[in-house]
Amino acid sequence: MSPRSNDPADVIIIGSGAGGGAAAYRLVLAGLRVLVLEKGAPLPHDGSTLDIQRVVAQGEFLSKEPWIDGKGNALCPEEHFNLGGKTKWYGAAVLRYSPREFESEAAYSARGWPIGHADLAPYYDEAERLLGVRTFDCEPDLQRILARLSAVNQAWQSSPLPMALSSGILGNRNEATHFDGFASAADLKGDADISFLRLVANRPNFTLRNNTEVVELLPASSGESRVGAVRLAGGEELQAPNILLAAGALHSPRLLSRYLAKSGRSAPLSDLGQVGRNLKKHVLTALIAVSPSRKSDLLRKTMITTHADYPHSSVQPLGFDGELIATLVPKLVPRIVARLFGRHAYGFFLQTEDGSHADNRVSEGPAATTNGAPARIMDYDVGRIPASVSEHRAFTRAFRRDLFRLGMLSFTQPTGLNGTAHAVGTLIAGKDARDAVVDADGAVFGIAGLYVVDGSILPRSSRVNPSLSIFAWGLRVADRLANRLRQK
Ligand SMILES: Cc1cc2nc3c(=O)[nH]c(=O)nc-3n(C[C@H](O)[C@H](O)[C@H](O)COP(=O)(O)OP(=O)(O)OC[C@H]3O[C@@H](n4cnc5c(N)ncnc54)[C@H](O)[C@@H]3O)c2cc1C
Repeated sequence: MSPRSNDPADVIIIGSGAGGGAAAYRLVLAGLRVLVLEKGAPLPHDGSTLDIQRVVAQGEFLSKEPWIDGKGNALCPEEHFNLGGKTKWYGAAVLRYSPREFESEAAYSARGWPIGHADLAPYYDEAERLLGVRTFDCEPDLQRILARLSAVNQAWQSSPLPMALSSGILGNRNEATHFDGFASAADLKGDADISFLRLVANRPNFTLRNNTEVVELLPASSGESRVGAVRLAGGEELQAPNILLAAGALHSPRLLSRYLAKSGRSAPLSDLGQVGRNLKKHVLTALIAVSPSRKSDLLRKTMITTHADYPHSSVQPLGFDGELIATLVPKLVPRIVARLFGRHAYGFFLQTEDGSHADNRVSEGPAATTNGAPARIMDYDVGRIPASVSEHRAFTRAFRRDLFRLGMLSFTQPTGLNGTAHAVGTLIAGKDARDAVVDADGAVFGIAGLYVVDGSILPRSSRVNPSLSIFAWGLRVADRLANRLRQK
């Protein structure tokens, strides 16, 4: 065992994505010594992150980590390990949950938050300000589609989509047509790196270590009920009195369950039995709508549309131009036909909240390889959340039917099990240790010194994208931790 390095920080944060970036920013400004440990490297600024061939066709920037599903089949979740986490790649649609989405809804298997919308509101405000959130004008093709959609059925309602994009993106065609699923080379997207970490990068009380994977949480010398250090992949140990899990919903729960297993606390428990459970990732379908007119909108992703009969669902345009839409056309179709199709098409992204089910979970199994690394398991089955599946199917049918009425033919592609862009909820926040993992302040029940600030805590996935709520949660947990430490 390596000796522990002396007192490098007041707080160690594991991961630099939405939750980790936001928490680091707030804690550094509060004067605490913060050390961020990030498994990945900073992304290059050479334009490769905008290259369709390298990003989409070759998947060059995606994780290659092998996983298995609940039946033991091989799986490679679409995860990103780099400075800024998934926020470097996100579609930058940043929305607040509605107050209703903080409440539980038993008939939909949706759990409630331990806090209400009003508690998060000041942090939503701050996150929006730091991310530079703005709306963009609805462009002509989309305006025509949405106006005709609500004319055929008034239940469809559209409003401007809040976006974490610089207004300057409209002057850069390559960036404006490659931001949804791509990383900006010109820093035109607000994300965890640009909008949070860079603002504190030069402060003496902030340290960032890239290419640094945490493999284990370690107890403090005072005993098992307090976490006080981490072990890195190379064996080095670093200690701090406060440790924040921010490795993302597929990774943070595995660090915690490894710790519990080592400390003999992984047997069925009255508390912490929810670690890794309640995985949610939205029920998602990509839809391509085609009509005879050629589409020339630039940004495209400017509006969000909902339907009065489907309260857990929403639809956003994909920020994809014709060339990118052509990549969604099956490979059997000649590329020249696919490109022609793409020029006449508009892409949409339909998402429905998935309810919680304890068996939808992330865990580790017996060693899968000869090097002894445990198998990573993602067991997620929409069959366990029938209300979500039934709403998503009806919502998709209604959207396709009404597009058809306005002369657009549509094709759909459901997102598969490996689509983990919106994975959340594997260490949920709640009021009670018996059915949640962290409390309203992000503190893990029964283990001192350990907090969770990433998307793992989300009790609900909501009808909208998750990142703004994760940024806001990271700011709130850090704010409250800093206040408590100040009073000591
Ligand atoms: C293509 C795409 C499009 C998306 N579009 C949107 C959108 O439009 N709107 C929206 O709200 N959300 C969107 N999302 C989702 C959003 O990006 C995530 O919800 C959010 O980034 C999750 O934040 P997080 O802090 O939980 O995890 P992440 O942002 O994934 O951060 C986790 C970090 O931890 C690091 N890490 C992992 N394991 C370890 C370890 N053992 N040691 C050290 N570091 C570790 C990772 O490398 C990563 O940097 C999108 C995601 C993708 C991939």
